Amino acid sequence: MSREEVEKMVESIISNIETIGKWDQVYQDFNGLLCYHDINTARIAQAALDKGIFFPAKIYRNASPKVRDQLLTRLFDPACDEASHLLLCLALQGDEVVQEAFLKLERNPLPWRSKLYVNPSVYAHHGGWHFDERGNRSSLCFERCYTMLPGDGVDQAAKVGQLLEQHCPHCGCQLIDVLRLDGLDERFSFLEVDGVLAIPICPNCITFTEETFVCYDENGRSEIIPYEPPLTKNYCSEDELQEMSRNQLTLSTEAVPKHYASGGDEVITIGGWPDWVQDAQFATCSDCGQTMKFLAALPWNVLMDCSEGTLYIEICTDCRTLCLFHQQT
Ligand SMILES: [Zn+2]
Ligand SMILES: [Zn+2]
Repeated sequence: MSREEVEKMVESIISNIETIGKWDQVYQDFNGLLCYHDINTARIAQAALDKGIFFPAKIYRNASPKVRDQLLTRLFDPACDEASHLLLCLALQGDEVVQEAFLKLERNPLPWRSKLYVNPSVYAHHGGWHFDERGNRSSLCFERCYTMLPGDGVDQAAKVGQLLEQHCPHCGCQLIDVLRLDGLDERFSFLEVDGVLAIPICPNCITFTEETFVCYDENGRSEIIPYEPPLTKNYCSEDELQEMSRNQLTLSTEAVPKHYASGGDEVITIGGWPDWVQDAQFATCSDCGQTMKFLAALPWNVLMDCSEGTLYIEICTDCRTLCLFHQQT
């Protein structure tokens, strides 16, 4: 799309903003522009606020300070009956003023808090950031994003679904490096991994385990931290393993927009923002207790036809620890 076409579509979204909550044309146009063209949403946010629309929250990603303050005024009304929507919108905007307000509300909850399941700090995770009780902030997502595209296998910067020699001690299934990255490739400089990052898993156990932790060094030697075996039967056939390992997926030459995963296509993403199948989920590092950062997501269907769900991988570079978990509808 040309700049003019994008602009025209933004205008059309603004004039039909009241229909965006219907998951129809306007929603799809907006989502496509956000995910594939990384548009600034400031004007759309203003139009939504003018009509009292607070869904989807990502409209408010680039909301201006003026719009942000109007959302905050509504939220600080003790009788606010749309706190959950407002918290999400503000989390997506997520600047320092929002962070301060969230911290204040976390310490001194207003009456509406009793109607919500979680604290403002959990809403912040939906916006890709975290703050602790002292107000220290960290980002939970990388700003840079790459995807994997069909290729000829010459570019070895990233490989997915490679068979390993070892077998799972619990179910006997052959292990795979679900992802193997060359951190020294300049495309991965944002990851702060000074070598090869290998991510081994048991493809059978992983979908049944709540969280699997992996320790890595930067020489491609990684170890799965022992877990409670979720089952002993192996449902993963030899054919499926072969199918998975035959892929020729290759790292994209250029970065893609950071919300690329949410565009509606099933794509592998490394860096950027996750598209959650269920709720936003950021693991706690088993070593240092910090909230981990989103590293990559692999919809299984990309590797194996007719598979369900997505594998999420998170990282703590301080402890060289990874956490992997599966979500499906
Ligand atoms: Zn296993
Ligand atoms: Zn850690």
